[in-house]
Amino acid sequence: MKINVVKSVLAASDASAERNRSTMDAAGVLCINMLSAPGSGKTALLERTIPALEPERPCAVLVGDLQTTRDAERLGALGVQVTQINTGQGCHLSPKQVAEGLKTLQLDRIDCLFIENVGNMVCPAVFDLGEHRRVVLLSVPEGDDKVGKYPVLFQKADAVVLNKIDLVGVLDYDVGRVQDDLSRINTRAVFIELSAKTGQGLEGWLEWLAAQRPGG
Ligand code: MG
Ligand code: ZN
Repeated sequence: MKINVVKSVLAASDASAERNRSTMDAAGVLCINMLSAPGSGKTALLERTIPALEPERPCAVLVGDLQTTRDAERLGALGVQVTQINTGQGCHLSPKQVAEGLKTLQLDRIDCLFIENVGNMVCPAVFDLGEHRRVVLLSVPEGDDKVGKYPVLFQKADAVVLNKIDLVGVLDYDVGRVQDDLSRINTRAVFIELSAKTGQGLEGWLEWLAAQRPGG
């Protein structure tokens, strides 16, 4: 399996984000930026999601990580176009890095591009990458206090996905507390509970995805 790797300098620019969005609009590609702490299950959710969308909605992934192609290898095993963007010391993806990543993909062949951002609840929140939708993942082992602690991450979310709900009982996780915190900072975001491991709740996520279109 061949994994494309892009290494570029960390630089942010709204103009670059708008160019990315125009490029994807022109190709009719829906772009979803996925943000979360490390270990929330972004890659695991994509491993569930992509086979459910393919072949009707062909997918590709841009994966951001400081080092390694581990996630890209997992996703490449699904047979879709995957490009790993190694950020080195950079703790988020920038729109310019995404622009470089887009050049490595055949956009005319896909409907849906997922950007798996670097696992980090802080600065990825402030960078528009040119996505159409922003999805923030939470997972039960992280604790139920994260929406209140990292509000910026959740303010612009279109969907908040709570992963690993199979552990809610084991860890005494308070889903209501999370929903309360979320309702104070973002009334627009859809809240979806699921387990990428067991598949529980996956249909709600897939229904939400099915309703999303570039631009609209
Ligand atoms: Mg990952
Ligand atoms: Zn950063």
